[in-house]
Amino acid sequence: MAESTVKELKEKLFMNKKNAAARMSGEELKKCDKFCEGYKQFLDIAKTEREACAEIVKQAKSRGFSEFDSKAKYKPGDKVYYANREKSVILAVIGRQPIEKGVNLVAAHIDSPRLDMKQNPLYEKDEVAYFKTHYYGGIKKYQWPTVPLSLHGVIVKSDGSKVSVNIGEDDGDPVFCVSDLLPHLASQQYKRPSTELVKGEELNLIIGSRPFKDDEGSELVKLNIMMILNEKYGITESDFISAELEAVPAFKAKDVGFDRSLVGAYGQDDRVCAYTELMAVLELKNPDRTAVAILTDKEETGSDGNTGLRSAYLRYFIADLAASFGVKGRTVLSNSRCLSADVNAAYDPTFPDVFEKNNSALLNGGVCVTKYTGSRGKSGTSDASAEFVGEVRALLDKNGVIWQTGELGKIDIGGGGTVAAYIANLDVDTIDVGVPVMSMHAPYEITAKTDIYAAYKAFEAFVNN
Ligand code: MN
Ligand code: MN
Repeated sequence: MAESTVKELKEKLFMNKKNAAARMSGEELKKCDKFCEGYKQFLDIAKTEREACAEIVKQAKSRGFSEFDSKAKYKPGDKVYYANREKSVILAVIGRQPIEKGVNLVAAHIDSPRLDMKQNPLYEKDEVAYFKTHYYGGIKKYQWPTVPLSLHGVIVKSDGSKVSVNIGEDDGDPVFCVSDLLPHLASQQYKRPSTELVKGEELNLIIGSRPFKDDEGSELVKLNIMMILNEKYGITESDFISAELEAVPAFKAKDVGFDRSLVGAYGQDDRVCAYTELMAVLELKNPDRTAVAILTDKEETGSDGNTGLRSAYLRYFIADLAASFGVKGRTVLSNSRCLSADVNAAYDPTFPDVFEKNNSALLNGGVCVTKYTGSRGKSGTSDASAEFVGEVRALLDKNGVIWQTGELGKIDIGGGGTVAAYIANLDVDTIDVGVPVMSMHAPYEITAKTDIYAAYKAFEAFVNN
């Protein structure tokens, strides 16, 4: 067989696995790089679920979205938002089709792994002041010491007033840090199992070291810190009990690599999908089907609680929206379809053993479509039907979206899930579609710009369909 025939046959019969950057035109690459500038800004502004929620509502309002009113009547082209307790938000753009035909849902999460402050966090030990932390989400604990951390959140005082905290992000701000042992004295630490190299109770945040004046007495460093906090925020120690303070890496989002092809930042799981989904929905004008973007909290701790997707808030929103058209919520849900927009693990050439390469997402492979997640024998997955995968695949191809398929890693090595199952459990056709991430859940995660842009294109195609 002639060589050219083999080449032609391969092109016709094999999957196209060419690098996305090589498949994109120079003009497209420029658009992709420009898009990622906005993405990096979003990452720096929205490091916690509260900050993401506030930023999303702000951007939505500036694009003509108004607060959802269950008693109002809506018409095609109307844009609404619903903010759930300042931690989750739903955006909707009303479509031309009757709502009983179902809606196009896109669901990303806006919480990320981090160190939360305990309820009684402040203490002094050997003249160093600390906040005691309780980690949130699945972290490799040893990655978090010796990283500059910023503090974000709210403190609710006994009179009900609320103060916002955001310290460590501006160039002039101080930062906070967890210490680790020097290698010279780590021989015993090295003998610990790696899951305990740094223990949860050792993730103590250093917040100060100077005593109050030079009086005699105990806890003078703690007293000095409390004086500073009282002056700045008007709080006393008891107010920490009704606070939510989160320590997150203080670094800014940056380009990674000489070719600037990658983005390095904290919290890209899952703000990379939150941002791409947000951009797709904010730009939406007069869609055929109603589009609903969900940006939820608590995915990293299992989606429980009233701001997570195992709660009824999505169901109630759909029911209220349906009722405003005189339709039952369950009718809308049963006819709806959803892209669960969450990240997947990017194949890591340094650690190839945990991946089965043919079924792993590659950096610059495009947006990743994941039929099923879960652990072991697909435990905990919703497993999208072949029919729905076929529909999504055809849609992406029709719109020239560069995409790939991949699952989390080799069978029985580990596993994980997303919100897909909780939405599918509402009788919605659901599939995971998201960006591959390297070093997922680390203080600094890596993504490829072409994959980010491909995700945006995928969500844009889906909500316009
Ligand atoms: Mn995620
Ligand atoms: Mn995660």
